[in-house]
Amino acid sequence: MTRGLVFGAAGERPAVEEITLEPVGAGEVQVRVEVCGVCHTDLHVVETGGWGMRFPILLGHEGAGVVEEVGEGVTGVAPGDRVVIAWRAPCGDSCRACRRGDLRRCSNNLRVRSRMHRAADDARLSPVLRCGTFADRVIVHEACAVKIPDALPLDQACLLACGFSTGAGAALWATPVHEGAAVAVIGCGGVGLAVVQGARLAGAAAIVAVDVVPEKLALALELGATHAVDASGGDSVAQVRELTDGGVDFAFSAITAPSGLLDAVRMCAYAGTATLVGVPPPGRTLDLDPELDLFHPKVAIAVTHGGDTIPQQDFPFLAQAALDGRLDLARFVTKTISLDEVPDALDALHAPQGVRTVAKL
Ligand SMILES: [Zn+2]
Ligand SMILES: [Zn+2]
Repeated sequence: MTRGLVFGAAGERPAVEEITLEPVGAGEVQVRVEVCGVCHTDLHVVETGGWGMRFPILLGHEGAGVVEEVGEGVTGVAPGDRVVIAWRAPCGDSCRACRRGDLRRCSNNLRVRSRMHRAADDARLSPVLRCGTFADRVIVHEACAVKIPDALPLDQACLLACGFSTGAGAALWATPVHEGAAVAVIGCGGVGLAVVQGARLAGAAAIVAVDVVPEKLALALELGATHAVDASGGDSVAQVRELTDGGVDFAFSAITAPSGLLDAVRMCAYAGTATLVGVPPPGRTLDLDPELDLFHPKVAIAVTHGGDTIPQQDFPFLAQAALDGRLDLARFVTKTISLDEVPDALDALHAPQGVRTVAKL
């Protein structure tokens, strides 16, 4: 029996149900999902009443596992391969960005028609971000099945599918941090800590971690931050500017509150870049003064989607960096739970404990 975490209708609590799979189609890959991280985006799907997707929805998008079966024409992976399931899969040739060779800005991710159904009524499930990896097995586009080195444990590897790559990719690829740069990271949850790691790998000279929780700041210092600012103790913008001799080159907002982006803009030195990493709640606005906040300091605002990664090249790079000890993925897995415990773990994201909870399926 294959089980999956189904979000049946707006307002309903997600529940583990039996699901069925159609046969694997051409260019598709069936993966036995071993682990899936509990990421805020699934909570966002639940809290926004489906995030515009069609019900019923199959939750989960931070999965890793082992290839069970491949469809006709698949050459990149074979049964038995260990893979991370990517939710970004640049089309390569059909959008404007890919046609000019800029796969990081692809607006047309590859996808397959969902092969997953709810057993109770045979309704076709909409998998979150084309993944749906809170399920024992899923069928995905072959471009989304990214082979990773055997030596990397799957519970660490799954974080490459979303949270870790989003943070590290923000600093490495979306708004590339240059060597010697001064960086501020607002919010030191899993994604923010991954920004810290990415900035360190990029060679930043100063990395200022900003949060209101002392334990998170302590962990940020262990993972590469050079300074910590406790935002509960007053004006964090002024503190960051003072610590970095007038502001940072790159400020990343890794919290969902819109105030994070505003603070990021104001932490920037002349010609700095403020990058929005966390998904903001709907319907909010920013109180920005375009003259004082943007024009005179010549601050740019950037947005990253999942670290703007090219999964087939970046996930193996990050995996190897973790194996070499240049990234500390192991520190990011702080709790392991079962699939049945995921609904409670999603609720717990309102007041997160530890860095990342991973479900073993
Ligand atoms: Zn494209
Ligand atoms: Zn995610």
